[in-house]
Amino acid sequence: MTTLDTKFTCCAVCGEFSDQTVLGSSNTMEPPDLDTRPGEMLRSTIAYWIYECPHCGYAAPDLEERITDVADIVRSPEYLSNEGRFLRHVFLLRQLGHFAEAGWTALHAAWLADDENNPALAQSNRRLAIALFKQGKASRQNFMNDPNEEFALVTDVCRRAGEFDEALSTCRAGLQGDNLPPLIEDILRLELTLIQNRDDTRHTCAELPERPEGAQRVALDE
Ligand SMILES: [Zn+2]
Repeated sequence: MTTLDTKFTCCAVCGEFSDQTVLGSSNTMEPPDLDTRPGEMLRSTIAYWIYECPHCGYAAPDLEERITDVADIVRSPEYLSNEGRFLRHVFLLRQLGHFAEAGWTALHAAWLADDENNPALAQSNRRLAIALFKQGKASRQNFMNDPNEEFALVTDVCRRAGEFDEALSTCRAGLQGDNLPPLIEDILRLELTLIQNRDDTRHTCAELPERPEGAQRVALDE
């Protein structure tokens, strides 16, 4: 189950106090979406992943954490022109050069927009996430454990954004990866079908084919 607590919080930017509803604990009982969004109950806790100070607008996973150079950014008109605490945190991370992390927060903002039934915002947040992941890679910042996982994630984010051409080329490039783990190969093959069907809806890892316990696809070395 999910538990929530109220925390009296001191903002690291302006020093003012506010009551924030924070996540105590949660769990997952369902398989994740293909873009790694967790199943319930954790799925419904996304609103508590980023907090915002009601006094100065500082938005972060931990308002009490002091981050160098953040105060000047928060006080800028460009920062405050961003709508919503997730996109404000994306702006902060981007200004600080943390592009991969900013990409993840943009993806989380897309999930929140999905929940708010705002498809236009969800789409623009997914496009932003893809752009930030790419900017991160150009700065040698990985956004997943290895390139195979990165191809699978970007394929799904492109597909959900309705960018089917880019989803297809990313998926094909991913399928050509060396030492492709069976799980990633299954995900990419499912993506291929979804892309061909012009399907931009949510799909989960529960749809993947079952493999025998511990099964590995055998590759024959030349
Ligand atoms: Zn503040």
